[in-house]
Amino acid sequence: MDVEIAQHSGFCYGVKEAIKLATETAEASDRRTVTFGPLIHNPQEIERLGREYGIERVDALDGLTDANVVIRAHGVPPEEFERAAVQNLAVVDATCRFVTDVQNAAIDFCRKGYPLYIVGEPKHPEIVGILGHARRERPDAEIHVVETVDELIAANPARAAVVFQTTHEYAKYRRLERHIREQRLPWKIKNTICGATKSNQYAADELARRVDVMIVIGGKNSGNTRRLVELCAMHARSHHVETVAELDRGWFEGATKVGVTAGASTPQWVVDDVVTAIESL
Ligand code: SF4
Repeated sequence: MDVEIAQHSGFCYGVKEAIKLATETAEASDRRTVTFGPLIHNPQEIERLGREYGIERVDALDGLTDANVVIRAHGVPPEEFERAAVQNLAVVDATCRFVTDVQNAAIDFCRKGYPLYIVGEPKHPEIVGILGHARRERPDAEIHVVETVDELIAANPARAAVVFQTTHEYAKYRRLERHIREQRLPWKIKNTICGATKSNQYAADELARRVDVMIVIGGKNSGNTRRLVELCAMHARSHHVETVAELDRGWFEGATKVGVTAGASTPQWVVDDVVTAIESL
């Protein structure tokens, strides 16, 4: 069976930086190093960081003392930085700079008095962080989180300023941009979808059109991986796996060409394991 890996897939800039910061901190310090929530959305890599570097995960800062706290790539609301300072924790901020860009865009729109619409997953930590920063800037701001562009179009507000979760589907941004232009709406829109997301989506879409089966590797809790699965499923039989153990021989019956892509938090060693297993089927 012929296996092809998408031209762009796997670890992005922000994830690489977060892992580098966390591991360098753990190696250089005698104190405990913890991440506030999962550093990235990949259970296998989180487990490796614990095993090889002793990096632990905490889900709340309550009661935590004498520790290095690594802020996840998705960012956190400003209150969490303040809480860490009060508790004398050493904060290592691994917020991806593209997430910081969305936070700043949201702050800017709120400062200017626009009703803010954030397109993304309401409970995703990145959205929680963006909301926190925007509300800190302007507690009385009108802020909405909508899961889809269609939801926003249906709401049809008179005024709106729109930002996107960094890992939202780029085609949806383009659709909204076109809608605003065609309807001559007085809305502001900022493309806050990061380059890695865009490249991974384009490459997955292009590959899925040329293969029989697509295997998408990544955490089941990874939003950007789930969006890759949705994109690929439009063109090929597509399956989402976290590890090689989930591969099912039956998926490949009758297939001559298999495509592989991976979410932005998926380490290369997990991808290699899966590709090797498919090649040996
Ligand atoms: S997916 Fe984009 S925004 Fe998220 S961590 Fe990676 S580079 Fe940063």
